[in-house]
Amino acid sequence: MKKVKQVYEGKAKKLFTTEDEDIFIQEFKDDATAFDATKRGTIIGKGVVNNKISEKLFTLLEAKGVPTHFIKLLNDRDMAVKKVEIVPIEVTIRNIVAGGMAKLLDIEEGIILNEPVLEYHYKKDELHDPLINDCHIFAMKLATKEELERIAELSFKVNDALKEFFSSKNIDLVDFKLEFGRCKGEIILADEISPDTCRFWEKGTKRKMDKDRFRRDLGNIEETYQEVLKIVSD
Ligand code: 5GP
Repeated sequence: MKKVKQVYEGKAKKLFTTEDEDIFIQEFKDDATAFDATKRGTIIGKGVVNNKISEKLFTLLEAKGVPTHFIKLLNDRDMAVKKVEIVPIEVTIRNIVAGGMAKLLDIEEGIILNEPVLEYHYKKDELHDPLINDCHIFAMKLATKEELERIAELSFKVNDALKEFFSSKNIDLVDFKLEFGRCKGEIILADEISPDTCRFWEKGTKRKMDKDRFRRDLGNIEETYQEVLKIVSD
């Protein structure tokens, strides 16, 4: 399978068409950004690691009944994915208070939530991905009621599966962000699942094993990403 034409370049990935009109190639870059791209850098080897972690986690989720855009790994940085129309909503699920929720509500990081919190954010960098609710989504026609119900159902299913998986690896899944796409009339999980899009804390020590090491200049970034890959691959 070969890349034909680049159709998109985001902060962490590029997307290419292929000879097959239903299949795209997603390429993972080493570029890292934070705080609406005001902080920029490179995490050496991140693209390779995130490609492989996403492959493992998409495969795990497919086995749990979550449809995803993942088709197959092509090489170190590239995966073949189903062509989708991205729903312009970022779904966040939180199990433990951190980051945006701690700031928004002025509550302490680390508080364990009684129930997972699901948030929708409008995918718009210029507006800093603002928090929205289902009424905004229907009023703005970002998704239909049926689509949003499916998105929420799949998001909680992803949380259950990943929480259990990481817990067995001595890691707490703090929170994560998902994106969904429309593919032949179906809602499927798209984008990536990696230390760029999740918060992972080592159980007990709360050592951060995710992009917060870059955001907050905590050091050992490359090593920690490699460590997560090893844990996910074992
Ligand atoms: P927060 O809202 O606390 O900043 O983010 C919640 C979770 O979603 C974190 O795991 C974070 O990494 C992920 N997340 C939220 N928005 C984005 C985004 O625009 N890009 C990436 N890579 N991750 C995001």
